[in-house]
Amino acid sequence: TAEAVPQAPEDPLFGLMAAYRADTFDKKVDLGIGAYRDDNAKPWVLPVVKRADEILRTDPALNHEYLPIAGLATFTSAAAKLILGESSPALLEKRATSFQTISGTGAVHMGALFLSKFFPGNPTVYFSNPTWANHHQIFSNVGLPIATYPYFSKSTKGLDFEGMKRGIAEAPDHSIILLHACAHNPTGVDPTQEQWKELAVLLKEKSHFPFFDCAYQGFASGDLAKDAWAVRYFVEEGFELCIAQSFAKNFGLYGERAGCFHFVTGPGVDAQTTIGRISSQLAILQRSEISNPPAYGARIAGLIMNDEELFKEWEENLRTMSGRIISMRKALRSKLEELGTPGTWNHITDQIGMFSFTGLTEKQVLQIREDAHVYMTKNGRISMAGLNTGNVEYFAKAVDKAVRE
Ligand code: PMP
Repeated sequence: TAEAVPQAPEDPLFGLMAAYRADTFDKKVDLGIGAYRDDNAKPWVLPVVKRADEILRTDPALNHEYLPIAGLATFTSAAAKLILGESSPALLEKRATSFQTISGTGAVHMGALFLSKFFPGNPTVYFSNPTWANHHQIFSNVGLPIATYPYFSKSTKGLDFEGMKRGIAEAPDHSIILLHACAHNPTGVDPTQEQWKELAVLLKEKSHFPFFDCAYQGFASGDLAKDAWAVRYFVEEGFELCIAQSFAKNFGLYGERAGCFHFVTGPGVDAQTTIGRISSQLAILQRSEISNPPAYGARIAGLIMNDEELFKEWEENLRTMSGRIISMRKALRSKLEELGTPGTWNHITDQIGMFSFTGLTEKQVLQIREDAHVYMTKNGRISMAGLNTGNVEYFAKAVDKAVRE
């Protein structure tokens, strides 16, 4: 009976957001959820998105018909070019297929579901430790076994590259290795290009299947090509792989759920036939789960990516967001160093993207929440965009106090 359903725990991140909202303290600070805020701590609608919205809304031909099962073709083709690069061998040789999804989460799920059905031999999926918390439940929900490889070094607060390589080398051949394309969540720590090259060699030796999760392209460095470097390198190296792509952060389209799933086959004579068969299976999975994806966010993103002038404006908007975050990294580090807060703080500026893994302990995090009404996840992760010129010093002082106690 229904009474037998056990209580599930609340999602920690969304629970944190609710606690922040309920707090009436005027200086409260939200460093929890990974959503961009402007210098006034307000959500920012990208100016280029406002322009695209205006164009769409005044288009007399706009209607609310269903999109095709694979989504809006002008959007998915632009999304593929954005991540793979216009002259990608996978695109030139027509061995990539792209399906519009419910943002990045939906894309990770589509990949997970597809692999659970068609990847030979019930493979284990390896994540970095730590990773985006949702990876665990998305892959478990489709019945794939999960495991982790080392990633973060607590002592350097940087990459534990030797541990990462060891973990990937020890995984059985033909495992699925989940990789964050850039701006790793939650650590903000990415491999260097040299390290990515070593990883490619290792994955190839082991016949592992790379699954790239790309939620921050352009948002991390402000440079779309730079943030796609690892994915493009693996494609050039001839890997068969898949990519989950989110447009939540880089277009600020969080709630519109614009995303894309791409599957790329390796080069070979049958590549086009294979990709046709994969597309046919993805179409069935999509049809049975969401029938067809939501239109609005894809229309906005598609319009911008396909228009030269809007695209340029988007790149400027990306630089505004990534630039403000980088300046907050510098400000936080220098405030902590000025205060002489015990410990080293170079990792704040070394890490990139939306998040910083501060190294604060759970006890310190909870103390800061109680004393200063600053909300961050218990693992010491802070969303950098929650900091601004008005609260960075306040936050640094709260950290200083907690670290000294
Ligand atoms: N993957 C990672 C690593 C993320 O950080 C996120 C966003 N938090 C996502 C996927 C997907 O987010 P969304 O579904 O909002 O696009």
